[in-house]
Amino acid sequence: MPATDAQLMDKVVSLCKRRGFVFQASEIYGGIGNTYDYGPLGVELLRRVKDAWWNRMVVERDDVVGLDSAIIQNPRVWEVSGHVGGFADPMVDCKKCKGRFRADKLEDARCPERPSKRPGECGGELTEPRSFNLMFKTHVGPLEGSASVAYLRPETAQGIFLNFLNVMQASRLKPPFGIAQIGKSFRNEITPGNFVFRTREFEQAEMEYFVPPAESERWFEYWKKERFQWYLDLGLDPARLRLRDHAQEELAHYSTGTSDIEYEYPFGWGELEGIACRTDFDLKRHSQASGVDLVYFDPETRERYTPFVIEPAGGINRMALTFLIDAFEEQPLEKEERTVLHFHPEVAPITVGVFPLVKKEGMPEKAREIERELRRGRMSTFYDEKGAIGRRYRRQDEAGTPFCVTVDGETLKDDLVTVRERDSMAQERVKSAEIRAWVEQAVRAWKRPPRRDR
Ligand code: ATP
Repeated sequence: MPATDAQLMDKVVSLCKRRGFVFQASEIYGGIGNTYDYGPLGVELLRRVKDAWWNRMVVERDDVVGLDSAIIQNPRVWEVSGHVGGFADPMVDCKKCKGRFRADKLEDARCPERPSKRPGECGGELTEPRSFNLMFKTHVGPLEGSASVAYLRPETAQGIFLNFLNVMQASRLKPPFGIAQIGKSFRNEITPGNFVFRTREFEQAEMEYFVPPAESERWFEYWKKERFQWYLDLGLDPARLRLRDHAQEELAHYSTGTSDIEYEYPFGWGELEGIACRTDFDLKRHSQASGVDLVYFDPETRERYTPFVIEPAGGINRMALTFLIDAFEEQPLEKEERTVLHFHPEVAPITVGVFPLVKKEGMPEKAREIERELRRGRMSTFYDEKGAIGRRYRRQDEAGTPFCVTVDGETLKDDLVTVRERDSMAQERVKSAEIRAWVEQAVRAWKRPPRRDR
């Protein structure tokens, strides 16, 4: 039977721990709320998601360049951007159990005393909503006083606005062009997190695309489509993805349009990425406050204007969680059941498992040779010579490894190896010298396999 949504989430969490994707942070000290560490498979998954994003957004385009700005900026930045005054969630407190909850997410919250109950259902009275700023405050330098206050950035976007002129001039770009950045952001989130869906530190992937104001609507539509397509290309279930345009009253005051790419998680539909038209709000505010004119001057038309900005903003950890949930399947076979992660090969932590059928007769040496060749092609491999071959395949299925190569007794005579594909479990004999090309072709040709619904 397909897992229910609650079971599915538990199963994904337990697989993440068992196989070294995600661990609770500070676990031996009892953990720390909403904070996680990524193990050997998890860190590879994150790296691949970041690479897939960077390749699509920067490497494959002429009009987008990258940036890596500092986490701690001049505190004026956050006053001017509106974060000091306004980056807050409305919170309510329970007078009985002392729980604190986001007033706009009460339906997702649980009472700390009675986790089966919603806030207030423990019999306590909830206070009126109060504003709670999400930025982490710290101090820079040896003195702790108001003069040394600094903030850990709650978004990477401001670092991009601050460098708008630097990047445009250094790269000799003119609108429309974009600046992309991947990096850590910090928010003192209060709502319980649904595993790594909402954490206090997380990695964001944001791109600010600067356009002539008259073209902003066209580019907003373009980026909505382009970002949605990226998730489809990486194999997410189209039936569990949707674009949701924000209603007028949901829009930030400076935005003329915002649309969320949402995924249907086991705990309901949730935002995976937001695409917003931020107009010229940020550049204008920083121009006014700093006295530096953050405008584009076109030497040909002699026109001077503040570009509008279209911003696709996603979270790398949330993307990784989405790929994990979407890829997870417990598949009944004839005699048993296998747990498999049907990752797109581009995001799979390991691309090829390499096995000698048995640990003798030159098979390990041949397998090592094949592995070296794959690594020369920058493929991530895993060599395993322990235990029955079926068990070794199952372990790779569970890690989401799309291909396995097995060297057997015949290989030493005919130089053919068995290549096994994860999703179909189909096996094929391939010349050992052609393995790298075979895998490269199979990665390109991969299609999401038909699956039972959960
Ligand atoms: P939410 O309404 O869920 O708090 P948001 O609208 O404030 O999110 P944005 O500021 O638009 O989120 O951030 C862009 C992206 O960054 C989100 O779509 C999400 O993928 C990711 N993100 C935001 N907050 C978190 C978090 N606390 N943990 C993990 N990822 C996050």
